[in-house]
Amino acid sequence: MSSPASELVLVFDANNRLAIRFTPEGRVAADGSALPQAHRSRIGFDLPGETGPLRITLGCIPPEQPVDTGVVFYSIDQLSGSPGANTPFLADILAALEPHLVELPYLHLGENDFIYKFRPAQERNTSIYAQDAASGALYQSALCATIKALARRHERSAADPVPLDFGAVQYLLPSHFGFCLGVKNAIERAYETLAENPGRRVFMLSELIHNPFVNEDLLRRGLRYLQSDKGVPFAVSGRKINADQPATPDDPARWDVLAPEDIVIIPAFGATDEDKRRLVRRGLAVCAYDATCMLVEKVWKAARSYGRDGYTVVIHGKHEHEETKATFSNTRRHAPAVIVRNLAEARVLAGLIPARGEPAAQARFEAAFAGRHTEGFSVARDLDRIAVVNQTTLLVNETREIIEHLRGAYLASCGPDTPGAPARVGGSGRTDTLCYATQVNQDALGRALARPLDAAFVIGGKNSSNTYQLWRVCDEKLGRMAFFIQSEADILSLAEVAHYVFPAHGPGTKDGGHTETRPLWPDEDFARPRRILITGGASCPDGLIQAVIARINSLFPAERLRPVESVLADLGRA
Ligand code: SF4
Repeated sequence: MSSPASELVLVFDANNRLAIRFTPEGRVAADGSALPQAHRSRIGFDLPGETGPLRITLGCIPPEQPVDTGVVFYSIDQLSGSPGANTPFLADILAALEPHLVELPYLHLGENDFIYKFRPAQERNTSIYAQDAASGALYQSALCATIKALARRHERSAADPVPLDFGAVQYLLPSHFGFCLGVKNAIERAYETLAENPGRRVFMLSELIHNPFVNEDLLRRGLRYLQSDKGVPFAVSGRKINADQPATPDDPARWDVLAPEDIVIIPAFGATDEDKRRLVRRGLAVCAYDATCMLVEKVWKAARSYGRDGYTVVIHGKHEHEETKATFSNTRRHAPAVIVRNLAEARVLAGLIPARGEPAAQARFEAAFAGRHTEGFSVARDLDRIAVVNQTTLLVNETREIIEHLRGAYLASCGPDTPGAPARVGGSGRTDTLCYATQVNQDALGRALARPLDAAFVIGGKNSSNTYQLWRVCDEKLGRMAFFIQSEADILSLAEVAHYVFPAHGPGTKDGGHTETRPLWPDEDFARPRRILITGGASCPDGLIQAVIARINSLFPAERLRPVESVLADLGRA
């Protein structure tokens, strides 16, 4: 290939708008050759020209740099909305820019940089958890703070559970439960953005985290959602838009009224390329409000690296979950990909490996993984070598089993890996795309479950995948005495609990989820203390944990309970 004859640097502002100049022939891209090297990205493309290819490099203007007179920044939608005002050359640039739109918000980042890193402890904005009585009640718990100070000596390794002896009832709390760093960062970003931008409309792409109480508190403070956690768009009035009730001129979709001065926060789960492109086109500042957890981004980087090494990426995840949707969308820029929900589905995939050269295998694949694989996925070609990444919040053991099963299938079908050649299953069987918070919450729960228990309450949102995984672990040990609840309101009495039955195929799917009333301790005289394990998913605020404890205590006669001060004093002596 001949080297480019010359270079044109396109300049974008923080709102992903292109610097434009006006000429008698129409709008042209402003020449960004004066842009400092540090603000030019590695991203670009060649455009054919009469004397050879023209190299187009993408760059971003530093906020402090003055803009030349005569330069105006236009959003991609503005430019494509009046094509007659563009020169033919600008039209060519816009067409070639299309595949790169999703990269525009991140031009200032290197390949290995993270969009948003966890804040160190001294930079955390803990004041947002105590803004008023409502947030104080939701987020704060003296009991949980004491337990965490006592047991959570290390953020990333589980320790012994902490007992709370109230007399008639004894609780056991794992050393690690509740908010992870990714959730804390996203929550702090959301509250700060609302506080710092009075008068601007602040939207969240979809739910900030999977906890209805947190989301309601943010709504109350003025945040609005663009779409539901299932991707169903909201109208300006707040109703869901669907086939029966479409958007109207009087009540359009929130997506369609977004303007560059609006703010859209991307939640910790990340966002699909499609959603990011929509924001970029409309001229919104994407990167500044992107709260994608860096551990989710770590998964994307692993998938990209596997793709570059020639592997097909198998994503262990729930296809309806925002994070898995975002991971799939991100991965398909770099590799063929398929989503498997669990070991059973991994077995189906593994069953295709020996037959991957046969046409029938393609039909079986398409039937089994419809809507969950990249376009044009060829079983014959793309099942030659695979690497596994996962949704960050699943059970690590299940991911390990999936990797081992797929490795066994390749061994049986192709024999041992050839020395010096790439392994059939890439990544050396690593499971490090599971996040540490999920892992440590699961480990800490395992240690607590080794103790004698009468019941377990796992607290979290109905669409919280990691809460469901914690409940599954409790269910294995305690069966019907393991309860998945959203708040203290689900503890109806000492006889009954409103337990949430998580849908086998995920929230929003045909099998749905439902709440059923399950017996707790009907007809008990409580001659001996009850031993109850309490934990919460990564999106469960401490205030909810404390409220559940208070609710259970309230069901016992006060004279049989020790005061909370004495229980806290026990902890101080431990
Ligand atoms: S559960 Fe893990 S991946 Fe998800 S937000 Fe928390 S730290 Fe990030």
